[in-house]
Amino acid sequence: MRLLLIEDDKLLGNGILTGLRQSGYAVDWVQDGETAVTVTQSEKYDAIILDIGLPRMSGLEVLDQLRTQGTVIPVLILTARDAISERIQGLDRGADDYMVKPFDLDELSARIRALLRRSSGRSLPIIIHRNIQLDPASHLVTRDGMAIELSPREFAILQTLLENAGRVMSRTRLEESLYSWKDEIESNAVDVHIHHLRKKLGVELIRTIRGVGYIVDKT
Ligand code: CA
Repeated sequence: MRLLLIEDDKLLGNGILTGLRQSGYAVDWVQDGETAVTVTQSEKYDAIILDIGLPRMSGLEVLDQLRTQGTVIPVLILTARDAISERIQGLDRGADDYMVKPFDLDELSARIRALLRRSSGRSLPIIIHRNIQLDPASHLVTRDGMAIELSPREFAILQTLLENAGRVMSRTRLEESLYSWKDEIESNAVDVHIHHLRKKLGVELIRTIRGVGYIVDKT
């Protein structure tokens, strides 16, 4: 899962970045509204965390730009404690959730999980696919009820494939769910992770669509 963080406060931004990366997300961080609008035109994100008080272009203006471009990505806004009107305006202008500063990082993580769950059309917190279960909160994966150890990147690929069951995911799309733009991308990394996933979860789970990518069939 790849997230965009838009926050001009360096200390807070660093804290959120570190926390979300530890939770296994690929995170890109920009510090002003104009850059945020530019990167969302070229990069693909699963969710956006947007501070309202930003230099050059306010968070509310960024939100307007995103929504008039037709972007349906879930957006969580960050607002100041006394700014109730910002929260109301944000929600009415297309934000999906908000957090009031200062906030708890674990709560932010939980809200992001809820946003990602809703945007993938699930209501159950755990993803169940035949004999496989994946819990995005605890990062636990089981096969026939037995816990399976996955690396954070294997976990991220499996989650993306399961959330999109029935749809072919291109190698590029899977790479995007793994890496933020500061990371080096090894050219065959996705194939290696898929190989490991098949060894751990069974060869029949993930099918290769030659020249296109990978798919987990719908149950
Ligand atoms: Ca700010």
